[in-house]
Amino acid sequence: MAFYRIVITPPHPQQQWIALSQEQSHYLQRVLRLKNSDRFVVMDGQGKAWLAELQAEKAHLLDFLPESTELNIAVTLLVALPKGNGFEEIIRPCTELGVSTLMPVISDRTLLKPSPNKGERWQKIATEAAEQSERQWVPDILEPCSFKEALINLKDWGSEAYICVTRRESPLLWSCLETQRPSRLLIATGPEGGWTDTEIEQAIAVGFKPVSLGKRILRAITAPTVVMSLVANFAELR
Ligand code: SAH
Repeated sequence: MAFYRIVITPPHPQQQWIALSQEQSHYLQRVLRLKNSDRFVVMDGQGKAWLAELQAEKAHLLDFLPESTELNIAVTLLVALPKGNGFEEIIRPCTELGVSTLMPVISDRTLLKPSPNKGERWQKIATEAAEQSERQWVPDILEPCSFKEALINLKDWGSEAYICVTRRESPLLWSCLETQRPSRLLIATGPEGGWTDTEIEQAIAVGFKPVSLGKRILRAITAPTVVMSLVANFAELR
């Protein structure tokens, strides 16, 4: 039976009673019409889940749920921010497919600077998508930074870093996965206008391998989802 799932803060609760936020208890009681003693699942967003019972504005934790729907490959997606609200359209499906961390970056051809209050909204979308897709882990969405800054922090990824590029003779991401069998992955996708040649060279210089997702050109908001579905399928096959 599928139970409604909510993520609670703070994570790792020691106590058996968790106070629900106003929004959560409104949703459970008014929208889902749960009554006292009705059950739902509480997640800490960092790997743990419990079966819980509603009691007034609180969740009474009953049993620890030893469930595991997470990928056995931790995937960090470095995504050049697309225009408009495009990043929101990336967060949702990539969370459903199992991404661990999303790293939004501003690249040379990024058209729009993100407004400062986006972070909270992005994290909320990731939380809702993790609840909906029955994951135990809510992806981390890092603060946006420039692509150059990101490369400096990512030097130690070695052979597990890939950059998706178009119009180059590059191996398919899938064949790299098969040869490398990585336990963690960092994969970068570009903005609408693509990466500049300089950006691709800089990424290669710190260890990224250029890869292809096929012969067709995907939109900036499609490419990360394609990456995640390839990786998720590969992770579950092995
Ligand atoms: N305007 C660019 C395409 C940008 S597509 C051009 O004409 O080349 C946006 C991003 O999606 C790219 O930077 C790349 O990271 C990714 N992407 C799209 N299609 C791809 C493919 N077939 N293989 C690899 N990466 C792809």
